[in-house]
Amino acid sequence: MAISFYNHQRLYQRNKPEIDAAMARVIASGRFDWGDEVPAFETEFAAWNGASHAVAVASGTAALKVALLGLGIGPGDEVITVANTDIGSSSSIHHCGATPVWVDIDPLSRNMDVDALVRAIGPRTRAILPVDLYGHPANMVAIMAIARQHGLRVVEDACLALGATIEGTKLGTLADATCFSFAPSKHLGSFGSGGAVLTGDADLAERMRKISAYGQERSRHYAMHGNGMGGLHHETHGLNERLAELQAAILRAKLRYLDGTIAERREQAARYQAGLAGIGVDLPQTLPGYQHSWRNYVIEVDDRAGLADRLRERGIATNLTYAPPLHLQPVFADRRVGRGALAITERFCDRLLGLPIGPQLHLDEIDQVIDAVRASMTR
Ligand SMILES: *Cc1c(COP(=O)(O)O)cnc(C)c1O
Repeated sequence: MAISFYNHQRLYQRNKPEIDAAMARVIASGRFDWGDEVPAFETEFAAWNGASHAVAVASGTAALKVALLGLGIGPGDEVITVANTDIGSSSSIHHCGATPVWVDIDPLSRNMDVDALVRAIGPRTRAILPVDLYGHPANMVAIMAIARQHGLRVVEDACLALGATIEGTKLGTLADATCFSFAPSKHLGSFGSGGAVLTGDADLAERMRKISAYGQERSRHYAMHGNGMGGLHHETHGLNERLAELQAAILRAKLRYLDGTIAERREQAARYQAGLAGIGVDLPQTLPGYQHSWRNYVIEVDDRAGLADRLRERGIATNLTYAPPLHLQPVFADRRVGRGALAITERFCDRLLGLPIGPQLHLDEIDQVIDAVRASMTR
């Protein structure tokens, strides 16, 4: 049996009645905009994470952009971040008019190296954008201390780390803003696109809501769509980056199963750790004090192309999330940060190989992948 990387049909079948009911509810109500689903999802999502405020938006990239804009990051500002990540982590900075400054990573957690962060802080640095890669939290305690010391804001890209913890506390309460993606393949997948920002700052939450919705108070939109009174009142330069009611309803249905699917991911990762030990591949580490949420299971190996080919022959999909790193992508060629600038990031991106993981897979399929990797490494 072939094993693909994602299988959205199979996942849908797991909660089909609840998802169908949620979609039918929205469609029958005719409220595709400014209904009850988005505010209800915001409340439920904030509660699930133990955060004060959630602002639901149209994607993970939108979450990052709205958070940066809400914190006043703009032209002339530099934001320190990492390069071994999704393009959204840096394109969001660019689209605010600011400049991403990439620093190297710690080879074990594969996340921002805090010493490199300190060395990169300069007169134009305004914010730090760490990424919790694959579900392993960045060193947020150290990063927040450095940020406070230097008067910097922190936007945490937790798009891969929903449900991960630091010293037992879920992400979403440490940074000024913590961003999540509900792309279909993420921990909590919409049927299209979605995202959210968590914050403890009520004023920032209101600013982000306004920015994501045409620069206008949400209450005004509700009034306009209710009795039609009130008129328009655009207070700030806004975007149209809202979460759709239909997606919010689907996410509410799926949120009830999120603890279970994250537990499945942890069980699968533990199976990989045991099954792939001692065969010459470098396995992902979880540093003390952190609990991983395993959006990705990524190994490192010298002959990555050879291993990927041998796995493909056995019907097993692999992927290269995320390689090459952002500083080597054509879109950032004008930054002139060439190969050699981020040695650990580059070596990691040259050797990484993602194996299938997630609630769309059964444990015996993880075993099948383990057997295939073992056979491929000893051939
Ligand atoms: C998925 C992801 C994003 C972007 O999210 P979208 O919903 O695809 O816009 C940003 N950063 C990281 C680390 C991601 O994994």
